Amino acid sequence: MQRCRNLIVVFGDQLDHQSAAFQGFDQARDLIWMAEVAGEATHVRSHKMRIALFLSAMRHFATELKAKGNPLEYRKLDAKDNLGTLATELSAAVAKFGPERIVAVEPGEFRVEQMLKQLAAETRITLEIRADRHFFCQRDEFAAWAKERRELRMEFFYREMRKKHRVLLENGDPVGGKWNFDSENRGSFGKSGPRDIRPPRQFAPDEITGEVLASVEARFGDHPGSLEHFDLPVTAADAELALADFIEHRLPGFGAFQDAMWTGEPFLFHSRISAALNLKLLNPRRVVAAAEKAYFRGHAPLAAVEGFIRQILGWREYVRGIYWAYMPGYLAMNALEARESLPDFFWDGKTEMNCLRETIGQTLEYGYAHHIQRLMVTGLFALLFGVDPVEVHHWYLAIYYDAVEWVELPNTAGMSQFSDGGIMASKPYAATGKYISRMSNYCAGCKYKPEDSTGEKACPFTTLYWDFLLRHQERLLKNPRMAMQVRNLARLSPDKKKEIRAAALRIRETTPKGGY
Ligand code: FAD
Ligand code: SF4
Repeated sequence: MQRCRNLIVVFGDQLDHQSAAFQGFDQARDLIWMAEVAGEATHVRSHKMRIALFLSAMRHFATELKAKGNPLEYRKLDAKDNLGTLATELSAAVAKFGPERIVAVEPGEFRVEQMLKQLAAETRITLEIRADRHFFCQRDEFAAWAKERRELRMEFFYREMRKKHRVLLENGDPVGGKWNFDSENRGSFGKSGPRDIRPPRQFAPDEITGEVLASVEARFGDHPGSLEHFDLPVTAADAELALADFIEHRLPGFGAFQDAMWTGEPFLFHSRISAALNLKLLNPRRVVAAAEKAYFRGHAPLAAVEGFIRQILGWREYVRGIYWAYMPGYLAMNALEARESLPDFFWDGKTEMNCLRETIGQTLEYGYAHHIQRLMVTGLFALLFGVDPVEVHHWYLAIYYDAVEWVELPNTAGMSQFSDGGIMASKPYAATGKYISRMSNYCAGCKYKPEDSTGEKACPFTTLYWDFLLRHQERLLKNPRMAMQVRNLARLSPDKKKEIRAAALRIRETTPKGGY
């Protein structure tokens, strides 16, 4: 086997033809390396849809690379001699091709970056890790911004990004006179529910995807979730169509109903482009530009466009910055000392709490839930129940098809579980069942009553909310944004508090957990 100059490593979430990894690529001397490995599907028990999406998108990308005449070593999962992990497969490739240098773009996971560094050190081969220009904000740029601040807040980061990248600006000022239209993004559907929302464009599985689906079912049949509804874009061309479909049909309604939830309506006005973005099939600059254009051509209102752009240019970049600034320590943080195991119903949806049954059921069926379902239904329950944040993290990383650790971990551990003590969010997202009742129709189909904290029909969210405040009141009182919520405890009599603590204990003791 002829030695190669550069071995260009392309991971499953780096499917970008414009990637910095290909800069200076010489077809005569360099070799691209990609590998499907079982270890990446099993290190957390991944939803079948997540496994299938990565494999199918990788195979399509490989086909495109080959069509351009690029030399490629592609290791298939089903190959008899597949070694099962990225580290063992890459070591074998290094031994086979004896490269002078390993070239990669910054991986999406700390663990994978460490693996690359270790392998390079062991084999004494030069490793060149290139900045990921998919993102608006580079890792060192975020670190420098964070260093200058006592407290990190997304809103200020987002304004900097708007200014730097000249997004929704008019003579240097924000279009519409303010940076943020969040207060207009919290509408619910009222009793009549959502009407006439065009569902996301579907992409029927082609031959490559068909093969992947069969292989995933055969090999990972006991993993959670279903493949029945696999209709995701798996190429850059299809991802563009998915984006265009969202801009045309759902962006105008995105703002007002961003936080709303409804039974049997998983997608509502959401874009469903997170996976295409995270696999780098779609460039965030294109997404932001398309949304901005929709505003300027009068197709979508400012509150919708600003709200959407804030998610991409603000939150998505901010969470990546947090991840790389605080890893690996971030994973071990547990500010609220939460030690419970994850309830078993997170894996099968078998619970009498209708909001959780709906959200988890839909997650198993589609590998998808929108932000508020993740934050204020599953995430909220785990927070109030007191689940160990690492267990919560493993669940989110496994169960959503768009999960890559740099984006999943800060959202889960930081935003939803407050395990970082306030680095990511200024306060815990704690609420009673009444929040869910206001934002959805879930409670109408539930045996519990969201307003009851004790008694036969007490909503477990409401019981656990008051119990959460009681357990953490000392710590929470120090947080000015929580003080008012905590002061409401004064409204409860000592007997009521006792009753709540006892009811919460019963919920914890009788909920089957740790079984998966
Ligand atoms: P839309 O609602 O249409 O939003 C548009 C885009 O904005 C998304 O595609 C996404 O790229 C971006 N975005 C929105 N909110 C966030 C956010 N908080 N952080 C980063 N980007 C954001 N997103 C992931 O991509 N992968 C994850 O693994 C993931 N895990 C999450 C775990 C928890 C506990 C929570 C609360 C949120 C998580 N998110 C994650 C963020 C968000 O929920 C998803 O990006 C969104 O629901 C994807 O659906 P969509 O494409 O329809 O998004
Ligand atoms: Fe969920 Fe409580 Fe509403 Fe039932 S009553 S759907 S458990 S919030």
